[in-house]
Formats: sequence, structure tokens, C-alpha cells
Amino acid sequence: MPRFRAILDTMPAYKPGKAVLTADGRSYKLSSNESPYDPLPSVVEAIAEGARQINRYPDPGCAQLTEAIAQRYDVPVEHVALGAGSVTVAQQLFETVGEPGAEVIYAWRSFEAYPLLADLAGAVSVQVPLADEEHDLDAMAAAVTDRTRMIFVCNPNNPTGVSIRRDRLTAFLDKIPDNILVVLDEAYREYVRDEDVPDGLDFYRERRNVCVLRTFSKAYGLAGLRVGYLIGHEPVAGAVRKVMVPFAVNHLAQIAACASLQAEAELLTRVETVVKERTRVREALIAQGWTVPPTEANFVWLRLGERTMDFAAACAVEGVAVRPFAGEGARVSIGDPEANDAFLKAAAAFL
Ligand code: PMP
Repeated sequence: MPRFRAILDTMPAYKPGKAVLTADGRSYKLSSNESPYDPLPSVVEAIAEGARQINRYPDPGCAQLTEAIAQRYDVPVEHVALGAGSVTVAQQLFETVGEPGAEVIYAWRSFEAYPLLADLAGAVSVQVPLADEEHDLDAMAAAVTDRTRMIFVCNPNNPTGVSIRRDRLTAFLDKIPDNILVVLDEAYREYVRDEDVPDGLDFYRERRNVCVLRTFSKAYGLAGLRVGYLIGHEPVAGAVRKVMVPFAVNHLAQIAACASLQAEAELLTRVETVVKERTRVREALIAQGWTVPPTEANFVWLRLGERTMDFAAACAVEGVAVRPFAGEGARVSIGDPEANDAFLKAAAAFL
């Protein structure tokens, strides 16, 4: 028998969101925080045009897309690093610091991939429980040791949707020594409307140990193509580029991401509709009697404890797939109005 790394025996499996289908053909996938919209025609056209070159390898340095992102955010091109989805950029980050004994701090519960990536990279996960569905930043700062190499801060947090305010994040970052890398994971940044929730790029501009992680999977609707990026100072972005697997970001993904940046105004109009639906869904749930934490992302969080799996099953009866975390709660993406109505119907019936 081939021998594998011992960590593979204990590593948690990543459980992706699934779709469900009722006997009469209803299916509303609210389990992966995707965009509910079809891709823009201009983006589909760019992909079709790009398909003519797929006999060739993609540009390994992603020059055009890197340039477009750098321009969009007014940062030097050397400060941009790309990956096959921001989860892969996160993996690259873990690879850059992960050596025996290296500790990585993050809140828990948060994005499911963090513990997996820490294990894969051979780093030690230091999980700091959420307090009232929020990052407990005091406890996270207190968890820093001389072995801490990186801290992940997910803002807004997946799966609770709760965000960290500017003053709290500033006070936290002031406490973190500058030889520790702080990653602000902002996969849902485009959905944030609360002005007290800071743009992570403001912190990156002021601090060399802070970087920001973003994605084309959510607001830009390219989940199926896998492209995400990091903005950080040259030593950080350079290290992340160094550990990238050659050609990881494929040709069509690069082209689609460039086309999406060109069509950004149109895409952000769609985001506005999702934000309005988010308000409608949260208010309807509260009117039904649910406790729903304030969310700045494209999903809501219901803490259901032992009833979580029953709730997911009840939603499935209406064709609604949610993302259950057994014993804890369910995360439900904001979809189009029809999907949201189906979810609200299931939620009301469950109560
Ligand atoms: N970060 C967070 C907080 C997420 O929720 C997700 C997606 N679920 C990702 C990163 C990764 O997204 P992607 O790899 O599609 O860019």
C-alpha cells in the first residue's frame, strides 16, 4: 500500500453546497452564496472568443487581469496575486507560512476551508470561538504567541454574515506585531452597505503586514470559472505568486474576469438587487419570529442548534437547498425573489 501523510486521516472534508429537486421539479440552490443571475452576454461573448486559443497554455503571470485589478484599485501591479478562486489564494497563503509549529489564528465558526488548508500546509490551527456571532477580536489578539505567523479575519464572516466595524478592526490591528501577516478575507465585500464596515484596502494601504483577499465568484458571478486575488505589499504578494502552481488560473477565467471588470457597473446593479432582497428576507424572517443576525453578505444565518438538520430537510421539501452545519445552524444564500419566497415559505412552515 502507498503511504500517505498521517494528517489525511484526520483532516475535515470540505462539504460543498448541493442542490435539491422536488418531485414536481422545483429546485432553489441557496447553499453556496452564488450569484442567482445568468452570466452577462458580454462576458459569455468574451469567453466564446477566448475559447479559440485554448490549445495554448494561459498566460502564467495573468498580466492583463493583474493590470486591470491594479488599475481598478489604484495599487501597483506587484501588489496583486491571483489564484484559481480565492480559496486557492488562501491555500497559497497557508503554503507561504505553513511549517511545523507555525500557528494560524482564525475565528470559529468561519469559512470551512481554513482548518483544511492549515492541515494541508502543516500549520497549527488556533480557532477562537465567535462571541455573539461576531469575531472576538480581543480573544484573537490574546491568542497571539511567538509561533503565530498569520491571522485570518473574515469580514463579513461566513457563515454568520456579521461584520467587524472600523474602530474595532483598527484597535485589533494596532495590537498585532507587524511580523504577523493579517489576511482580511473579503469574499463578500461588494454586498457591504454599512458605512462603519471598513474597506480592507484602507488597512492594506496603511500597514505592510495586512493583505486583502477578494473573489470573482460572488458579486461578479464567475464561481464556475475559479478566479480570486490578493492585494498586499510586494513581499506578501510576491510570496503568494511564488507558490502558485504554474498556469493555475486558466485562460477563460482570466478573460471572463477582465470582461467582468469592464462590465462592473452592470454587475453591481445586480448586487444592489440582491442587497434589497437581503433586507426583505431578513425582515420577513424577523416578522416570522426568527432571530437573524445583521448581515452584510449575500446570505443569512439561522442558529438552530439541534434542529439544524430538520430545518434543512424541511427546506428541501420546498426544493430549497440551504447550507446546514449540524448542531449549529444553517446559512441561506439570498437568491432571486422566487427562490427567496420559497425559502420564506419553508421557514414559516418550520416554525
Ligand atoms: N472566502 C470566503 C469567506 C468564502 O465564503 C469563500 C467561498 N465560500 C471563499 C473565500 C472562496 O471563494 P472562491 O474560491 O470561490 O473565490
